[in-house]
Amino acid sequence: MIYDTIIIGAGYAGLTAAKILKSAEKKIKILEARDRVGGRVHTQSYEGGFYLDLGGAWVGPGQDRFYKLIKETGNTTFKTFNEGKSVMWFGDKVKTYKGLIPPLSVGPLISLDFGIKKINKLSREIDLANPWNHPNAAEWDSMTLNSWLLKNMPFQRARDLFKIAAEAIWAADPNEISFLHALFYTKSGENLDVLMNVDKGAQEERIVGGAQMPALKLAAELSNELELGRVAKKITQNEDTVIVTGEGFSYECKTLIIAIPPNQVGKIQFEPMLPANKTQLYQRMPMGTVTKTYAVYPKPFWREKGLNGLAATNNGFTTVTFDNSPKDGSKGILMGFVLANQAKTFANLSPEERKSSILGSFTKMFGEEAGKPEFYLDHSWAEEEFTGGCYAALMPPGVWTSLGHALREVSGRIHWAGTETATHWMGYIDGAIQSGERAAEEILKR
Ligand SMILES: Cc1cc2nc3c(=O)[nH]c(=O)nc-3n(C[C@H](O)[C@H](O)[C@H](O)COP(=O)(O)OP(=O)(O)OC[C@H]3O[C@@H](n4cnc5c(N)ncnc54)[C@H](O)[C@@H]3O)c2cc1C
Repeated sequence: MIYDTIIIGAGYAGLTAAKILKSAEKKIKILEARDRVGGRVHTQSYEGGFYLDLGGAWVGPGQDRFYKLIKETGNTTFKTFNEGKSVMWFGDKVKTYKGLIPPLSVGPLISLDFGIKKINKLSREIDLANPWNHPNAAEWDSMTLNSWLLKNMPFQRARDLFKIAAEAIWAADPNEISFLHALFYTKSGENLDVLMNVDKGAQEERIVGGAQMPALKLAAELSNELELGRVAKKITQNEDTVIVTGEGFSYECKTLIIAIPPNQVGKIQFEPMLPANKTQLYQRMPMGTVTKTYAVYPKPFWREKGLNGLAATNNGFTTVTFDNSPKDGSKGILMGFVLANQAKTFANLSPEERKSSILGSFTKMFGEEAGKPEFYLDHSWAEEEFTGGCYAALMPPGVWTSLGHALREVSGRIHWAGTETATHWMGYIDGAIQSGERAAEEILKR
């Protein structure tokens, strides 16, 4: 049998493409390497009646595609708890504050505000479909976000705070990404305020039951077409068809959608080789580095102290925390991100050292109760075989302007999806959905 289209990868991108092509009555198959769907979105349930979103979790204003899917699949959202004060632990001082920006003296505050506004302003000039077309693209792509900050944010304290925010947005150090990419990504998610905020921002809401729920519903609708545990290892393009092979299977199709992270493409053998620019581009898009840490308590005790569970610190491994308790508050769940270089060092620690350092930080910021959770977990995405890092791939300097044009280019009968190929909300679930829609439309137009 020759399928119309095979889709590799059952994350939100692949599932979206499959859904569209199936409703257009195409003969499809979707192959997923893992024994589950959702990819970088994984909701895990635990004894004691709680669940944790080990990967993608939030949805916020502007992410219309994800909201639509949540609704269509019969799911609902709830607001991230954000009442009360946030905590800031800088040096040896622990303070509480209201609003997004921690208390700063006048110079650093102005410097930080100026930098954020300037990035927002410059980002508005970027053409999201062709960021390399901006007249300053070559200059901006030749520097890192960090080199721009050194020139434009003169106060160290302002840069320290911005670094914490940037790491939370990209899961990367500002010295790892091109300034052009920072501008592209900022506009792709509206602006820095939206990317950083809980209220009116990308962290505003969560999905009741977990962010994987809509993916599980899509998978149920695609149960006849979906095969789990199928790792695509070789792709052969002939004149009229494409053959996808792996251990114990070989399927033929007229067109193929590859909806996997860029760093995973290099593991597949292509015959003939992919075009030079595509191969080279995917070699230059490394994944960010993030470990999510969770501590579960009988109740969200910090709320009684007037705290919202948000914290920012330049001490220890976790630099930002959030209240990740379920909607009904039946458990208290604190989530701490370990990001970028902190995550790289954290990976070298023993499980006991990781746990005691995270609980030590939580105790410092939220009080003694934080040291005695019922349950603790840390989850490193760099150790996931079919992801290799998160939240998404990064563009280091020089990549957008030299090879960016190859990102969505069709390679013969192969079309490309995945959040990294999105123009709106790249790096997010919403971007994954947009990319799946685009790839499916390309196929329908062929
Ligand atoms: C810790 C963390 C926090 C995040 N927070 C958020 C958030 O709050 N909100 C948000 O919107 N986004 C968030 N993200 C990002 C979001 O999860 C991703 O952008 C999105 O899920 C990517 O979807 P995708 O379909 O493009 O790719 P993926 O989800 O990576 O799906 C690709 C699929 O392809 C499969 N695959 C790989 N190789 C092969 C192969 N050879 N053969 C067959 N199958 C293969 C993989 O197993 C995977 O299932 C977060 C991510 C992480 C990890």
